[in-house]
Amino acid sequence: MDDIQRFLAHAIQLEKESARRYEELAEAMQSLGSMEVAEFFRQMAHYSRLHLKEAMQRGGFHDLPKLAPEAYDWPEGTSPEAATWAGVDGFMDVPGALALALDGERRSYDYYRSIAETAQDPEVKRMAEAFAEEEGEHVAQLEAWRERPARR
Ligand code: ZN
Repeated sequence: MDDIQRFLAHAIQLEKESARRYEELAEAMQSLGSMEVAEFFRQMAHYSRLHLKEAMQRGGFHDLPKLAPEAYDWPEGTSPEAATWAGVDGFMDVPGALALALDGERRSYDYYRSIAETAQDPEVKRMAEAFAEEEGEHVAQLEAWRERPARR
């Protein structure tokens, strides 16, 4: 992964899926009546979209970059955010939703970290490091939510 445009195309895809996932989770939590958690997920969706926009600006993309599916190079053949994402089912509860979100954030973190560690291109390396740092913050936020005693 030594081409900044290609790296950004991956980051954009990842953030797009992340935002979509958080929106689905927010809706599921809202229908459970867990407004606070729903609000938190909406906020996370918002940050994913900001991140997406930032990646697009840095890459100079005016439209979402479209790579052919086979041009993407994901560790598990699918983007880390989508890897365990089969959609929200009707039985999702708050701990289940937080666990699913945490899993996605950890995968994103690992993905950016591994690029930061293996990239030769200094710009790719620097950006992957910055993105990994942000994902690390998301992981910490989700862990904090999981430790909250009362979740409504
Ligand atoms: Zn994240």
